[in-house]
Amino acid sequence: MVARHDLTTDPELRDELLTVRRGTAFFARKVTELSDADFDEPSLLPGWSRRHLLAHVGDNARALTRLVQWANTGVETPMYDSPAARDAEIDFGATLPVRALRHLNDHAAISLDVEWRDSPDAAWEATVRTAQGREVPARETVWMRTREVWLHAIDLANGARFSDVPEPVLARLLRDITGTWRARGTDVGLVVAVDGWDDRLGDIESEDPAIVSGELPDLVRWASGRGDTGVTASTGEITPAPRWL
Ligand code: ZN
Repeated sequence: MVARHDLTTDPELRDELLTVRRGTAFFARKVTELSDADFDEPSLLPGWSRRHLLAHVGDNARALTRLVQWANTGVETPMYDSPAARDAEIDFGATLPVRALRHLNDHAAISLDVEWRDSPDAAWEATVRTAQGREVPARETVWMRTREVWLHAIDLANGARFSDVPEPVLARLLRDITGTWRARGTDVGLVVAVDGWDDRLGDIESEDPAIVSGELPDLVRWASGRGDTGVTASTGEITPAPRWL
């Protein structure tokens, strides 16, 4: 039975679904603003043209769809067969005519959304495994996709800005990124201070930390490895952020 509305009754999850759909619409709008020829130009990601980026965003939707199907059926379907298979898919996708790439991307986004819509509450809590090998509840796919569509809309390099991203998404991103550094121990002596926030992130136990501060959108840009505009450092010199993904 196909539902026309989300099956989940969880208000928090419904909220997250709203945010990811806004992000999907935002990404789609930025794609629409580009001509086919524009896709031969570079994206903001090193070594990737906009074709690569569009191919990747479509692939990502299909990979996340597999995780949601896994949660719904109990039949294990990984995101990708291997990292090499993922890269090969992107390289192949980038060779397709842009018209086809646009269709594939739209179609993949719709399929993922239908899969979410038709997932009952129990499926959202089922454990699946990400490409990085993390075991997460299926509801995490919503956040994984949220990050992708908002950040990669900026990476299209045709006018989307970090300040276009909703504040709760930026805040969660920064906590995610600094949390990853923490877990890996790559943030020794580094503290992140967001203007207007009570708490600080990073190596807050350090006695003599280098404090990187700024407005939330600028700090997310820096923390995600996309430049240091608007960011200041207590040491006077802004170091590149530790790796995130
Ligand atoms: Zn991505």
